[in-house]
Amino acid sequence: MKGKTHAEMGIVTFLSVYNVLPGKFNYIGLLIVAFSSILPDVDHPKSIINKYILPFRNKTSKIMVYSSLGIGLLWYDYLYTNAPIIKAIGISFIIIAVSSHRNGLTHSLMGMILFSFIIGYLGNMYNVHYLVYYFMIGYGMHLLCDMVTNRGVPLFYPFKNKKFKLPLTYNTNSKIGCVIEDFLMIFGLLFTIYKLPIIFCK
Ligand SMILES: [Zn+2]
Repeated sequence: MKGKTHAEMGIVTFLSVYNVLPGKFNYIGLLIVAFSSILPDVDHPKSIINKYILPFRNKTSKIMVYSSLGIGLLWYDYLYTNAPIIKAIGISFIIIAVSSHRNGLTHSLMGMILFSFIIGYLGNMYNVHYLVYYFMIGYGMHLLCDMVTNRGVPLFYPFKNKKFKLPLTYNTNSKIGCVIEDFLMIFGLLFTIYKLPIIFCK
């Protein structure tokens, strides 16, 4: 599934459920949902996030950049901070460096827990306790949406490599796949436009 379709699906879910969330509707929440909806594909050198991070969008550059960031942070933590949050972020970078697309931790429940822990911790540090809920909506929707595609996701990685998918799936590279994603985009945009007055008039 394309990055923009993921972002759109995350936002549609957020706009459907924000009323029952602790932080209700707010723009930080909206940004967090959009970000976490595309975050799992950081394991692909050509994904949206990597467009802004990698100097060259290939596998070698992805491994080099993320492993240097990870090792740098762990080294900094060892010398100066000794803080669990810095360790967790450093380890995450190394995991991103070694994960191949859709086969590793970023597309698993373990990955979702690890990243949620980091966001939850940062949220508590800055007194925005509800951030983690928004984060989990975006991230969870990404995994669910990828389960509708024929490649599936390794939900229980690193314990099990089996790829999970829903009974009905489509091939993202096929013609019908493109039509489905275009349809989802149009539906998402219409739904967002329909929701706008409700958000602004409350
Ligand atoms: Zn994905």
